[in-house]
Amino acid sequence: MKVTDWFDPTEMWIGGRWVRATTTLPVEDPSTGETVGAIAKGGAAEIDAAVAAATAAAPGWARTPAAERGRLLSRLGRLVEARVDDLAALEAMDVGKPLAQARADAVALARYCEFYGGAADKVHGQTIPYLDGYTVYTLRQPHGVTGHIVPWNYPMQIIGRSVGAALAMGNACVLKPAEEACLTALAFARLAEEAGLPPGVLNVVPGLGAEAGAALAGHPGVHHVSFTGSVATGEAVQAAAARNVVPVTLELGGKSPQVVFDDADLDAALPFLVRAGIQNAGQTCSAASRIVVQRGVLDEVTDRMAHAYRALRVGRAVDDLDVGPLISARQKGIVEGFLARGADLEIAARGEVVTDAPGHYVAPTLLAGVAPGHVLARDEIFGPVQAIIPFEDEAEAVAVANGTDYGLVAGVWTRDGARQMRMARDLRCGQVFVNNYGAGGGVELPFGGMGKSGHGREKGFEALYGFSTVKTVAALHG
Ligand code: NAD
Repeated sequence: MKVTDWFDPTEMWIGGRWVRATTTLPVEDPSTGETVGAIAKGGAAEIDAAVAAATAAAPGWARTPAAERGRLLSRLGRLVEARVDDLAALEAMDVGKPLAQARADAVALARYCEFYGGAADKVHGQTIPYLDGYTVYTLRQPHGVTGHIVPWNYPMQIIGRSVGAALAMGNACVLKPAEEACLTALAFARLAEEAGLPPGVLNVVPGLGAEAGAALAGHPGVHHVSFTGSVATGEAVQAAAARNVVPVTLELGGKSPQVVFDDADLDAALPFLVRAGIQNAGQTCSAASRIVVQRGVLDEVTDRMAHAYRALRVGRAVDDLDVGPLISARQKGIVEGFLARGADLEIAARGEVVTDAPGHYVAPTLLAGVAPGHVLARDEIFGPVQAIIPFEDEAEAVAVANGTDYGLVAGVWTRDGARQMRMARDLRCGQVFVNNYGAGGGVELPFGGMGKSGHGREKGFEALYGFSTVKTVAALHG
């Protein structure tokens, strides 16, 4: 069965060549549950080959003038831009994302290439005043070979932010996409080939996490590992990288709050409160799965969100409704398991599944009056479920918002300027949105977690520092 005519997904991109895999994995369309094709299944041997290719390419790429690296990345971005509809169609089929959301991811991938293409020649070292007779300066240099392990929920955005920044800084990359979502990673490789990226600078090896992923995380030839995914796998990746004493960036899960004070502009807040919970069927690391609401507006916020939820329609990705299916039967089982554990909670409203297709559908569910200690208010569900949690005053709002093991993103809704500043200071997380909420948005905005949400920052200029290292040169010349 042929999943696309664009490229052959049973081949891997290694050392500037398309290499046929000896075994494959099925591609499932989450909208129908049907197998629609096959993709390459690489393992330790293919990761070895990809790391060898990257090792060979790394010195030349590092010495390629930064402006030229940037030009190639920008060209790649334009090629991505020209194919956003094709990329969106592939992603919609592969992960079940409604077409408009898949298209937004493709546009973001192009934007990452553009941003990091432009940034490549704008990162530089410093000169440092030191003792008499010395000239001291720093060189900002690439790590060498970087490993990139990405999840299935936003493949294009996460490839863009991590591979884009790594390439801009002169690293040679080995990318291991999630086994559930490899198609756009291979399409990206195809476009990189077309853009003229030198052989070995980007390598893409699909495969299982326990095989290809583990081989990449623990490979002694890899100098930096960027991992986005679950906490449990992040721990394993960090432990594997630790054996080689190499740095890791961990972008893990979240249980992000939007905090709504009595004085908030509710008309402005409402669309953000709902969208940040149901976008990508709630399978978003920075989903606002907790809506923390002050008592004075609790009834109004609950009623208005419930109204919005009752209008939500769930269907196939190609129908492009508000919400698509979850990625897999397994993920659906996890979400339904959480809902069963929340059987004691009040359901304020649910959206409607409007398709008969046998995909992995869950009706979006809004839970009201949830206690902050409840398991559904603490654990990441990774599905279209939001919990409304009441609070009395600002101190309690901070305690509730900071009261999980995670710390990725938070939103604050208040017209009080001083309170905006205090909340931004006191919330324990990597991004705070004041009177808006941009789940994952903004290629320019440094992004990353605290606590179990991980460490290190991707996106924005900040990522360029993470994907490089500083060397100090002290010259004594008298
Ligand atoms: P996952 O941890 O199961 O898989 C992520 C990636 O790791 C996949 O490519 C997988 O093949 C690979 N992997 C699995 N086992 C491995 C191992 N032993 N060694 C090396 N690699 C291995 O996560 P998932 O279910 O694909 O994604 C969902 C999770 O990702 C959620 O918790 C979500 O919050 C998180 N996430 C975080 C961000 C962020 O930026 N913070 C973004 C997206 C997703």
